[in-house]
Amino acid sequence: MTSPTLLDRSLAAVWHPCTQMKQHEHLPLLPIVRGEGPWLIDERGRRLLDGISSWWTNLFGHCNPRINAALREQLETLDHAMLAGFTHEPVVALSERLSALTGQRLGHAFYASDGASATEIALKMSAHYWRNRGKPEKNRYVSLAGGYHGETVGALAVTDVAIFRDAYAPLLRQAATVPSPDARLTAPGESAVEVAVRAAASLEEWLDRHHRHTAALIVEPLVQGASGMVMYDPEYLRLARRLCTRFEVHLIADEIAVGCGRTGTFFASEQAIAAAQDWPDFICLSKGISGGYLPLSLVLSTDEVYAAFYHDDTRRAFLHSHSYTGNPLACRAALATLDIFAEDDVLSANRIRSRLLAKGATARWGDHPSVRNLRQQGMILAFDVEGAAPDFAQRFFAAALDAGVLLRPIGNTVYFMPPYVVEAAQIDHMLDGADAALAAALD
Ligand SMILES: *Cc1c(COP(=O)(O)O)cnc(C)c1O
Repeated sequence: MTSPTLLDRSLAAVWHPCTQMKQHEHLPLLPIVRGEGPWLIDERGRRLLDGISSWWTNLFGHCNPRINAALREQLETLDHAMLAGFTHEPVVALSERLSALTGQRLGHAFYASDGASATEIALKMSAHYWRNRGKPEKNRYVSLAGGYHGETVGALAVTDVAIFRDAYAPLLRQAATVPSPDARLTAPGESAVEVAVRAAASLEEWLDRHHRHTAALIVEPLVQGASGMVMYDPEYLRLARRLCTRFEVHLIADEIAVGCGRTGTFFASEQAIAAAQDWPDFICLSKGISGGYLPLSLVLSTDEVYAAFYHDDTRRAFLHSHSYTGNPLACRAALATLDIFAEDDVLSANRIRSRLLAKGATARWGDHPSVRNLRQQGMILAFDVEGAAPDFAQRFFAAALDAGVLLRPIGNTVYFMPPYVVEAAQIDHMLDGADAALAAALD
């Protein structure tokens, strides 16, 4: 009798995320045994270039020697300690470093473990802020069409992606949605800036009517990731910031996907910031902040928000907690990640990588008859495929694996979001693999 494979054991015992498990009757799971820089290595020794940074988390490659060394040292010092009533160097140092990255504008960091929890925290903090300020009726939210902020019940309520939301709609206190500034929505002769101005006018109209009951606007700055790498002009963020200030509504920047240098600046929001008052009231980070190593998320907020909770009355405090809040190992991985940003001048090096990506993509698909809306924002490049069959994404994924590349289209949108260690030859390998997969999936 042969013993069951890892694949059989996984299908029997593990319920995989975001997956119709029955599809694995014909689509095999891929056992990954090792990671090495931008490569994942499967059971058969096949090397796959991680073109989507393992769900947008991995920034500096797998098993990065510097992050590994920091974690080894932390393992020998302090694994975990609760953060209520206690503190430790990694969580303090990380909070100080993040505050500095906002020019001390968002100087208070609250920690959790996953992105959806960061969204929940920002939403709760915002409503509780207004309650503490004597405006408890400001407890509703507004978000953008096609926005994604996580899949817990609170986060789903501000998420506008039907496939994630529909089955749970009866459980949600659904937020309002206003039009997305999606740059693809330009009318003939119109620019992306004009689309942004038009979307901001809709937001203004909405806020004018509903601001009295609205706590916050939540946005993914510059790129709406999960709904298909929808990109928009920073002018929208500038206008939305001004409107939020005018109507006394918080601006929550969900930088879980776009933060940590992904769009070319450390925070995507920075591209719309000229002065201190232009910063959002809250910034959510997760995914890349720990280098893709350990679950870590956080919400940064301002002195003004913090002050509204600072009081003799316990009930005015932010009484929210997770068991692993501020986990020292995760914070240490994040500190090692920020060290690499500083030591290697990563944002500059990424400008060269971004140009290589753009050049390679334009050469391959600039005139491709099925490729539409080739677009880029820093280390994210995407295009839409016209005339794609309903099973396009699955077929593309499988064909890309055959070509040695991990890529997972969202519907008919193909995107690249590689770790910040890819070299020119690896970018070529990734784009060649995509080109082969595109031909196979359109066949
Ligand atoms: C991934 C993501 C989340 C949710 O993070 P999880 O860790 O998956 O809960 C929230 N917002 C954005 C913009 C994301 O991309």
